[in-house]
Amino acid sequence: MKDGIHPEYKKTKISCACGNVIETSSTKQDIHVEICSKCHPFYTGKQKLVDTGGRIDRFTKRFNMSK
Ligand SMILES: [Zn+2]
Repeated sequence: MKDGIHPEYKKTKISCACGNVIETSSTKQDIHVEICSKCHPFYTGKQKLVDTGGRIDRFTKRFNMSK
């Protein structure tokens, strides 16, 4: 970690286990996740296989997808 040096953000795609693909910007490429905003019950309103306490929070913070 050095001050004044920022990682280069590039367009990348996040592939979810549900098949959803999200385009975003990240320092990482070809990201795979187990859950996304499309299949998380908080967004869908449906109860699924998920026990994600906090996982979606980390996801949204990590990719700046607060909506
Ligand atoms: Zn998903």
